[in-house]
Amino acid sequence: MSMSVVNSMLSALKACQNDIGTGMDIVTEVALDLVETEGNEEDIKELEEMMLDSAKLDREINCFVEAVEQMTAQARQQPPEAMFTLKNQVKEHFARLQERFSDSDLHRHSKVVSFNESVRNSRTQANPSATENREEDLDEDIQVTQSQVNFTCPLTQVEMVNPVKNKKCNHYYDYEAVLGMIRSKVIQKKNLRCPVVGCGNTNVKESDLVKDAAMKRMIQNKSGMKK
Ligand SMILES: [Zn+2]
Repeated sequence: MSMSVVNSMLSALKACQNDIGTGMDIVTEVALDLVETEGNEEDIKELEEMMLDSAKLDREINCFVEAVEQMTAQARQQPPEAMFTLKNQVKEHFARLQERFSDSDLHRHSKVVSFNESVRNSRTQANPSATENREEDLDEDIQVTQSQVNFTCPLTQVEMVNPVKNKKCNHYYDYEAVLGMIRSKVIQKKNLRCPVVGCGNTNVKESDLVKDAAMKRMIQNKSGMKK
């Protein structure tokens, strides 16, 4: 592998990274259109997943470019034979660089952050009164008993698939939905209020969530009976 091959490969990767960035901007615009036209919540979630996937790809390219640059710089200072092991060195270094990150870091990718912010702002603009009323309802410190539990996730408004119980206030949410909310709040350095209307729990934490297999079975039985 000659240096000119390495260099042209790196510039191709960087061009590819630009395209990923453009793609992420387009996805964000599509999401905003969806919010404005009160589109399907599921679709917006799917777009968020696309953003996270793109962020991952972008990060992988960063790591790879960094690995190649560092390893080729090292190899230049060594005897020519060093070039033979370059490929493996890059591979190993790339793996080490990737280990520094976890999937939750992807939520901090600048374009993912701006995606979430734009969607949130657009929602508030589209329906300012709904947001206000919601805040008021949540401020009332009413304890809700377990008998009021239903099978609908307060976040997604659809039947829960993986119900988890908040052991602080006994409310149920769909695991993926609540985890996503907690993580996006963490990035904003804010607490997540329990979305159940009237609940006084102002700090929903991941550590308060317990998987509820019994609840899951109940939901499955119920939907089984419907068929
Ligand atoms: Zn609650």
